[in-house]
Amino acid sequence: MHHFEYRNGELHAENVPVRKLAQEYGTPLYVYSSATFTHHFKAFDSAFEGIQHLTCYSVKACSNINILKLLGSLGAGMDIVSGGELHRALKAGVPAERIVYSGVGKKHTEIREALEAGILMFNVESKQELERIASVARELNKVARISLRVNPDVDPKTHPYISTGLKKNKFGLDIEQSLATYRRAGELEGVEPIGIDCHIGSQLTSIEPFLEALDRVMKFYETLKAEGINIRYLDLGGGLGIPYNTEEPPHPVEYGRAVTERLKGTGLTLILEPGRVIAGNSGILVTEVVYTKDTPSKHFVIVDAAMNDLVRPSLYQSFHRIAEVVPQGREQRDVDVVGPICESGDFLAQDRTIPAVEQGELLALFSAGAYGFSMSSQYNSRLRAAEVMVDGDTVKVIRKRETYADLTALEEGSL
Ligand SMILES: *Cc1c(COP(=O)(O)O)cnc(C)c1O
Repeated sequence: MHHFEYRNGELHAENVPVRKLAQEYGTPLYVYSSATFTHHFKAFDSAFEGIQHLTCYSVKACSNINILKLLGSLGAGMDIVSGGELHRALKAGVPAERIVYSGVGKKHTEIREALEAGILMFNVESKQELERIASVARELNKVARISLRVNPDVDPKTHPYISTGLKKNKFGLDIEQSLATYRRAGELEGVEPIGIDCHIGSQLTSIEPFLEALDRVMKFYETLKAEGINIRYLDLGGGLGIPYNTEEPPHPVEYGRAVTERLKGTGLTLILEPGRVIAGNSGILVTEVVYTKDTPSKHFVIVDAAMNDLVRPSLYQSFHRIAEVVPQGREQRDVDVVGPICESGDFLAQDRTIPAVEQGELLALFSAGAYGFSMSSQYNSRLRAAEVMVDGDTVKVIRKRETYADLTALEEGSL
């Protein structure tokens, strides 16, 4: 299903011309499709309907509270990685018992807030973290439900910065350490081990690494069972890839079928933490061409979006499809699409073939919904972009464009 389509010679977001959105709200502009978010969530969630499960959207992919509200209303839980994300999820009305908390560096205050809220469980990533969670829980006279994040040492065959389940990564505990840590958790007051968790990486384009990880985790589950540790939840993390360019990632149905087959009859409740597969193709970034510039070696298209708006090309050398919002039918050119930031690493595309564009025209960067706005910054004192949500014919500004006052609001002497 495509909710970003060309109709009558111009790009639409659902029923609204993207050109009109840019006119009304300015650029750079994040444009999301409500129907796409809904469709992606339902397609993913229903792929696992054969077993008891909870789909916890990974908040960091795209964290706007309106998006959390939308997904929460569809029954989503949330996978959070900070106190700030807990705040967002609760504020969006997501019940605490649908929230799981991952991350290697949870601080004392963050743990306390999550315990006070009554989240479903902590995905614990080290022995020290386990001890700290237990001690905070005891202070509060509570018992923290926990999983250990095991590192199954499986290569997800994705970009190194988004590989997380290899021995050399900072995440989780290897299986040996995990066993000792589960034993410790079993005797420690203030924690109750109820789950096993793993998350091996992001943008996976095949289900084999997931299944390999699952097999290793299930073997470990049997070991824990034999030790009398009562595991009820299995959290498989996120990581399913999306098509940015020519990738052909598996459909959630294929993933769901393979996992469901392996878990049927175990009595385990499956937890999933999809981020990118829900948000990635639910949003685009719209930008205006400020200048074009030809040098002896390159044609540059200088646009008003930059690495502070969308860092993925600079950070991961990732590909975002770029197209004209209103195609003019000009000849193709090889260009670099770059932003105004004072860094040579500030590019949105390098050596890309797109139709020739002129000053003032609009370009759309596709697949920008995940790790787009949520990774944005104010570097070069640039105002963060506005975010709008389109739902059929209606448009809602879900985050206003920042102002100069926002830039300095927290700085001493700015008042
Ligand atoms: C980032 C992250 C996810 C989401 O990954 P996607 O590739 O966006 O699906 C899920 N779980 C954890 C622990 C993460 O850090």
